[in-house]
Amino acid sequence: MRIGIDDTDSPRGMCTTYLGALLIRKLNRAGIAVREARLVRLNPNVPWKTRGNAAVCLDADGSPREAFRLACTAVEEYADLAHENTHPGVVVSENMLPETFYQKAVQGFCTLDEAIAILADAGARYKGYKLKRGLIGATAAAGSRFNDSTFEVLVYRDRSLWGTPRSVDRKSLFTADAHTFPHTWDTVDRENNLVVCVPHTPDPVLFGMRGERPGWVTLAREEVLSEKPGFEQVWITNQGTDAHLLAARSPELIDGCSYLLAGTVESLPVTMKGGHVILPISHMGQPVTCLAYEPTKGFRDVVRALVPGDRIRVAGSSRRGSINLEKIQVISAPEAILSRPPVCERCGKRMTSAGTGKGYKCRRCGGRAGNPETCRSKRDIIPGWFEVPPSARRHLAMPLCRGFREDLLEEVPPQGT
Ligand code: ATP
Repeated sequence: MRIGIDDTDSPRGMCTTYLGALLIRKLNRAGIAVREARLVRLNPNVPWKTRGNAAVCLDADGSPREAFRLACTAVEEYADLAHENTHPGVVVSENMLPETFYQKAVQGFCTLDEAIAILADAGARYKGYKLKRGLIGATAAAGSRFNDSTFEVLVYRDRSLWGTPRSVDRKSLFTADAHTFPHTWDTVDRENNLVVCVPHTPDPVLFGMRGERPGWVTLAREEVLSEKPGFEQVWITNQGTDAHLLAARSPELIDGCSYLLAGTVESLPVTMKGGHVILPISHMGQPVTCLAYEPTKGFRDVVRALVPGDRIRVAGSSRRGSINLEKIQVISAPEAILSRPPVCERCGKRMTSAGTGKGYKCRRCGGRAGNPETCRSKRDIIPGWFEVPPSARRHLAMPLCRGFREDLLEEVPPQGT
């Protein structure tokens, strides 16, 4: 059976993965074996998410009735039900739920009615609390199939320390990263000298380490010196897989969806007050504004180095006609051809324009020339992929150390047609 849970936390505390990890232990004690713990990230642009739009799914063997009872009890005991934006959902299904619902929940928007219809169809046990919105995420998580997956070990704080500042040795995190990158990523942000894997929010997570295989994340975890942790859980996840990206096959972009699209730089990028960089491109004949926000730091220099005519692919979320950049592929950035008036062959002085279509004239000796002098300007950018730093990366975004989605590249040809 699959057990799905979502929407148990609030900005002031709790975390659905923590509740899920506690439930795993309760299920095991009740003789229900948990085969797989899944941390499922859903559409990062859902406005009513608390933090990273995570839901959990446990793949388990045993009594569905007892699993449902234990899951509901855990939600009633640990969810922040008093918070106005917490609306939990619990699902236990013996039948596999349709994958299409999961796809839609990662890449678009779903309704509660759609979730309930699917649950009723599958004969699943389910319970929604308050507005029951968590049933959407719980249904999507329970029906999730990962085309690609990564792992995260989440280390939870001892309850006695909740509310106190986290104590995690910074140097040990940099060492863990040095020993395991690129098999792990987003532990630290070397370029900006920042720790990334320790949250600043008042939830029970002490730190989390992401990587390619369970062995890599646990190896990295073993390097970390910290306060006494409570317990920890390795999750299989869709993080770092670009599962949220759609191939932009038409000029219309839907607000709240995330895309890979091909385009041509239309005009020079502009840096706004506050440091955000705006890059106007054209995609299938339509203007699209790409945005690199200030927290993307050095990535903005890549965007600033682009000039009109450059061919690029961009990945990011569509919001009010703009794409919030997660990464860029520079397909072609040809050297610009600069032209200027030639030097007079007789007296060596630079000529000036003799008027539109009339060539050039030397002001000193009256000499004439028809063609300008041309030269190629060297570019500060070369074709390739560029990404935001780990400190600005979204959970679902694939880090370049993992590569990129080949299937999407095929679907989004460089010409964007
Ligand atoms: P938590 O750790 O509690 O899961 P969160 O940041 O993941 O915190 P939630 O508090 O779960 O966010 O809020 C997200 C809400 O949005 C949930 O109720 C979930 O069911 C719902 N939701 C998630 N994805 C979608 C979607 N694609 N369409 C509509 N609703 C969604």
